[in-house]
Amino acid sequence: MADATPLYQTYNRAPLRFERGEGVWLITETGERYLDFAAGVAVTSVGHGNPHVVGALKDQADKVWHLSNLYEVPGQEKLAKRLTDVTFADRVFFTNSGAEALECAIKTARRYHFAKGHPEKFHIITMEGAFHGRTIATIAAGGQEKYLEGFGPKAPGFDQVPFGDLDAVKAAITEATAGILVEPVQGEGGIRPIPVEMLRALRDLCDEHGLLLILDEVQCGVGRTGKLFAHEWAGITPDIMAVAKGIGGGFPLGACLATDEAAYGMKPGTHGSTYGGNPLAMAVGNAVLDVVLAEGFLDHVRDVALVFRQGLASLGDRYPDVIEEVRGEGLMLGMKAKVPNTELLMAMRDEHLLGVPAGDNVIRLLPPLTVTAAEAREGIARIERAAEHIRAKAAATA
Ligand SMILES: *Cc1c(COP(=O)(O)O)cnc(C)c1O
Repeated sequence: MADATPLYQTYNRAPLRFERGEGVWLITETGERYLDFAAGVAVTSVGHGNPHVVGALKDQADKVWHLSNLYEVPGQEKLAKRLTDVTFADRVFFTNSGAEALECAIKTARRYHFAKGHPEKFHIITMEGAFHGRTIATIAAGGQEKYLEGFGPKAPGFDQVPFGDLDAVKAAITEATAGILVEPVQGEGGIRPIPVEMLRALRDLCDEHGLLLILDEVQCGVGRTGKLFAHEWAGITPDIMAVAKGIGGGFPLGACLATDEAAYGMKPGTHGSTYGGNPLAMAVGNAVLDVVLAEGFLDHVRDVALVFRQGLASLGDRYPDVIEEVRGEGLMLGMKAKVPNTELLMAMRDEHLLGVPAGDNVIRLLPPLTVTAAEAREGIARIERAAEHIRAKAAATA
């Protein structure tokens, strides 16, 4: 297959072909059902085939698909108003992906200092293990050698410090610094939350030095951690925030949110996108928000997360030879494996349970936020069978 494919060979794909999705389930062409705790990498936030969201997309599809930003798009104003009503932000720019939301965030921060008479302030401090996307700027921001290699000189203006090292952040601040960019919970880096005290300290540092705090909530935002946005756990607000994944529920949609002050430099002509804020995406984004902002929804996320987390912790206690640690926040959980994470992931797949590999030998468990406690328990039961299988295999070869 691999040799015959006309696709770029940039992915190692699992040999699975899903035809349909229903809630937390994916169904293959041959009718086999998989419990989907990958959710397209934290994207299908309100489940597959959510009737409210599907209905909104179909209604919009019958009206108009695309306009461009040459005209006013009422869905944009509506979604932006709702996002700014429930966050720190005053302004929103819509994109089609997470990396584009980060590009906008980086440009907004640099342009702010430029417009204030400081073009020399364009450096952004980031953290090791970060993931901000795959564009030329965002691979430089992420700083991971495996993503930078072979793509020419690393884009300038990104200064990386060790994860969670506040003194290193302080030492990295210079006259050229524009801001600090972090994920409140690193996703691809291995579900590594930044402690709330550290987030608060970063906010203070930014205030002290006139820097912009930029948060990448592409993966941890939109209810994933049990708050609408993960930084709310720390009781602080950023100046700029990138959002994507969960907000589109599976439709390509991202957003860059900013305060009026931070967006000061973004005047007409400074940025743009042909598709960004497309009517179909706006219809879906508004429908996803209907679900996520509904009374009690985040309580549901926190309640199920507790059940799931306790079940995983108990598994970790009973299978220390397979699971080394359970960590994360809400329904953004990670199991650090004692065996290679790919081996555990494969054993889980044999039990028809999907997860996502991450750095630090972690498996991410990111079910749709609509997952029920019973479905979470079903997931635990499948992980247990997978762990049992790995243990039996190890015993047989010992
Ligand atoms: C997925 C992700 C991105 C990139 O989003 P794309 O839609 O793939 O461009 C950026 N930051 C974080 C934290 C992510 O998880």
